[in-house]
Amino acid sequence: MEYTANTSRYENMTYRRIGDSGLFLPEISLGLWHNFGGVDIYENAKKMILYSFDQGITHFDLANNYGPPPGSAEENFGRILNRELKQYRDEMVISTKAGYRMWPGPYGNWGSRKYLISSLDQSLQRMGLDYVDIFYHHRLDSRTKLEETLCALDSVVKQGKALYIGISRYDEETTEKAIPILNDLGTPFIIEQQRYSMFDRWLENKLLQILEEHKKGCIVFSPLAQGLLTEKYLRGIPENSRAAKSHGHLREEQVTREKLDQVTKLKEIANRRNQSISQLAISWILRHKSIASVLIGASNVDQIKENLGSLNNKEFSTEELKEINQILM
Ligand code: NDP
Repeated sequence: MEYTANTSRYENMTYRRIGDSGLFLPEISLGLWHNFGGVDIYENAKKMILYSFDQGITHFDLANNYGPPPGSAEENFGRILNRELKQYRDEMVISTKAGYRMWPGPYGNWGSRKYLISSLDQSLQRMGLDYVDIFYHHRLDSRTKLEETLCALDSVVKQGKALYIGISRYDEETTEKAIPILNDLGTPFIIEQQRYSMFDRWLENKLLQILEEHKKGCIVFSPLAQGLLTEKYLRGIPENSRAAKSHGHLREEQVTREKLDQVTKLKEIANRRNQSISQLAISWILRHKSIASVLIGASNVDQIKENLGSLNNKEFSTEELKEINQILM
């Protein structure tokens, strides 16, 4: 029997418009990069997705290569969606991407028309979907002409396989080049996906401003710096944490004394605001009104629950922001 979702799921979530498009995203979205693959526990993945949807998280972010093994996060998500949430498909925004190595040989990577179009076909098949809501080019490809990549994105919309288009990890210069090309094509390009957290603020240099000027939206990933912006690493590297896993993308050497000292200082501010460190880190991002959504990852339901708590306190005083800047300098 299909899942029956919580009837009050929209009561406590705020939805932000993506740029000047008609599409809205929940302030917190769930990403399936880690913990939803073939190596992970299916029942845990299912619990996290159902819990998220019950809390008003309508947006789920995937990519062709999420797993491990690559493709397995899409397979698991498709299974959960089709078994449990099929009746809610139109209440969900599902995204996927292509841009990293997905299959052997010269056609399973980067940004050619050949790769992008066939990869999306494979993703749709794995998820058992007719279309995704947003299809992203996952990373810049300096070997392929930008026009070829962007025309391929335009084509998938025309083919009805994606409703909107996004780009991810593009630099400022290429983003500025891509916008007029996509606008001229009439492609519904609405969003850029970029890394942003207290520990990685490059978005503030110029990109956010470019997106604002062109009325494009922004969704940010790794808001907790993959778990560093929590209490978890203050007393060593716990078993089962991302930094401890051989397939985790957070490496042990990234857990530095300097970062942990900063987390300890941030904890004092979080305490004063009645927040945990992760809640502080997420609400600090949401102070930017042009960031449509914060894309969190999680390894269990409790983490999602805790991170959702950040929505209860999104205001910062000038003093608090100054203090945070000093810690992060
Ligand atoms: P986060 O920075 O939110 O890190 C998530 C990890 O932090 C969790 O898996 C968990 O790790 C730990 N964590 C989360 N909440 C808590 C908590 N309350 N207490 C303690 N630990 C916690 O985001 P991700 O790096 O996972 O990225 C989020 C999403 O962004 C991805 O799933 C993906 O969809 C997208 N993304 C996109 C990229 C792109 O190139 N476009 C690149 C990277 C991500 P643990 O296993 O240790 O418990």
